[in-house]
Amino acid sequence: MIGVRAAHAATDTRFDVDAVRKDFPALHQEVHGKPLAYLDNAATTQKPQAVIDAIVNFYSRDNANVHRGVHLLSERATAGYEHARETVRRFVNAREAREIVFVRGTTEAINLVAQTFGRQRLGEGDEVVLSAFEHHSNIVPWQIACDEKRARLRVVPMTGAGEIAIEEYARSLTDRTRMVSLVHVSNALGTINPVRRLIAIAHERGIPVLVDGAQAVAHVPVDVQQLDADFYAFSGHKLFGPTGIGVLYGKANLLEAMPPYQAGGDMISSVTFERTLYNTLPYKFEAGTPNIAGAIGLAAAIEYVQRVGLDRIAAYEHELLDYGTRRLDDVPGLRLYGPPLDRKAAILSFTLANVHPHDIGTILDQEGIAIRAGHHCCQPLMRRLGVDATVRASLAFYNTVDELDQLASALGRVREVFR
Ligand code: PMP
Repeated sequence: MIGVRAAHAATDTRFDVDAVRKDFPALHQEVHGKPLAYLDNAATTQKPQAVIDAIVNFYSRDNANVHRGVHLLSERATAGYEHARETVRRFVNAREAREIVFVRGTTEAINLVAQTFGRQRLGEGDEVVLSAFEHHSNIVPWQIACDEKRARLRVVPMTGAGEIAIEEYARSLTDRTRMVSLVHVSNALGTINPVRRLIAIAHERGIPVLVDGAQAVAHVPVDVQQLDADFYAFSGHKLFGPTGIGVLYGKANLLEAMPPYQAGGDMISSVTFERTLYNTLPYKFEAGTPNIAGAIGLAAAIEYVQRVGLDRIAAYEHELLDYGTRRLDDVPGLRLYGPPLDRKAAILSFTLANVHPHDIGTILDQEGIAIRAGHHCCQPLMRRLGVDATVRASLAFYNTVDELDQLASALGRVREVFR
């Protein structure tokens, strides 16, 4: 343990966790009289002051509607909103800003693709391939599209180590496969799927791939061109940005050929009662007044993360995960789920013998520790693991080894109570 601490101390000189913590006001509070240890980052992340300020500044100075006004405030709001799009483009290395569609979050992004691209392509007997890890928001939208078109879902199993079974995946792709939709990083286990390889396998058969990046973007650098993803979806609120804003990246030629998702203002170029011409990308998919402050807040979050550096974040979180794994391994009766550390990001998912995860959640809350207990919107995966629920401690770069010590000690006490 001392060695780990020493290694961590060495990292601390490169990664100043105390300095980044100062940027997050919500971290500095007591919960039930104990210092808050916020370990529920896979559910949502806390926001740095830079994001809070960007939103306050927008509403204090620049608030107006976008793309329509001829007045200065509208020009400023439009400039802020489009700057946000360009910031996202650079963040995921999309070729063009028009490939970045602002949506409410990952859920809406996947529904958009399922309802437009999916419905357009699916017919009777066709298949959509998913993995056993998927979040409900990457299952149900496809189920709905498949039901309507008499198509079906095909689910690639998971190995005992909590990873996608690659050979079965390759075998599951057939002449009937119209779409593959896969999670990048599993929210329930932390598994990092080898998406570049999985996409290449699908592309050999000409099958397009959507990647659910909700849990990836805050932990690993993402380059949509390098991955060759056809669609990539993520939520602002899991990336230290506001709720209610997210991103759908799509290759321009695919987005061009898709029908609109929602209809209304801003998504048209001309309307008569006989015929409507749709706007160019990305506006064709942004009907109605968008979440302008949300996009500006998301851009501030991305700029913040880029200042800290995703490579440094990934390295630091890996050490935290390593440390946390060792500490939890020492708790009697505790079972950790998921793959080996080198193929995992930021998540410690576990059960404790004879104690229900919800009881653990309640007791930890009394100790000031925020975790998630439940099925994590992955009921099929839980069934595969043979459990109803797990406890999930999920990390961000502002977490510390001390918080993991706090977690392990509290779990030790839970264990004593339920012996
Ligand atoms: N996919 C994954 C892997 C997730 O973790 C989540 C959020 N828990 C979602 C999709 C849905 O994201 P949102 O609720 O922000 O739309």
